[in-house]
Amino acid sequence: MTQLTQLAPDIHRLCLPLPFALDHVNCYLIRGDRGWTLLDTGLHTPEGWQSWLAAFAELGIRPADIEQIVLTHVHPDHYGMAGTLQAWTGNAVPVRMSTATAEAAAVIWRSPAEDWLDETSAYLRCNGLEASFLESVLQSMRGMRAAVRPYPENVETFAPGDEVGLGNRRMQAIQAQGHADDQTVFYDPADRLIFCGDQVLQRITPNVGSWPTTPAGPLGRFLTDLSHLSGLDVGLALPGHRQEITDFAGRIDELLAHHEKRLVTIREAIPDAGATTLEITRRVFPVDRFNTHEVRFAVAETLAHLEHLLETGEASWDENSAGVWVFRR
Ligand SMILES: [Zn+2]
Repeated sequence: MTQLTQLAPDIHRLCLPLPFALDHVNCYLIRGDRGWTLLDTGLHTPEGWQSWLAAFAELGIRPADIEQIVLTHVHPDHYGMAGTLQAWTGNAVPVRMSTATAEAAAVIWRSPAEDWLDETSAYLRCNGLEASFLESVLQSMRGMRAAVRPYPENVETFAPGDEVGLGNRRMQAIQAQGHADDQTVFYDPADRLIFCGDQVLQRITPNVGSWPTTPAGPLGRFLTDLSHLSGLDVGLALPGHRQEITDFAGRIDELLAHHEKRLVTIREAIPDAGATTLEITRRVFPVDRFNTHEVRFAVAETLAHLEHLLETGEASWDENSAGVWVFRR
């Protein structure tokens, strides 16, 4: 079964397998006069690499036909195989990413895991999670780090507002924070087309979490940047997961409404006596049915909403004698 779908005369989507509940990521191959652009790369697994080779064979693409590799954001399912694909071209082509993505990669993928221990331990304690969660964090970090190697070597960066050529298209690089603060989406006003990364997804809501290294308030940044995108004239949006989106503004409205509703739910879940992030998470998500990995995502998402309620003055916060954060309405 082919995992390739042609979406425009110059654009093919490659649906790559992922070993997660979210079981695939979309990468795009964009043909231009100077060769092929590969947009996002997948997690580095044997199955993922076989998918790329099968796509190259099907489209008749040789290493010398690749012009560049471009990334939307630093998450491993997008960044993971950039170095592998670059090596396939004999390191002849650049991997292009935003300056923010290059900086995030240096912290997340290239620094020793031990650098994070203090921050991660403090994060777990403040949010009411037992120290035993640390092992789960370290385990998933080790797994992810293995799946983003080898690292890309020849890296070129761009900034929000720059024009970035993808194939023959002149795309505007637009910052889209919150899911990943380093994320860029690429907009082609002439063709009303956008590569929207993980900022707007069909049927599933992009994860917005507050993690040990996230500056406070990712949900505010997500909602702000999402609102900006809704002002663009878009006929077709090509996301990092799931199907293409034809009603882009409509889908953004649904996502904004989803978080509006969840903010109310989380605010109402704060008891009068106050509660920790984990206690509030338990009132919103079926935490007892989650594995430790899922619990961490639920806590990060709850915390992102709680931080937003602090920003809007709908909740307050203090620290108890054990150093655990307690939220109140
Ligand atoms: Zn993703």
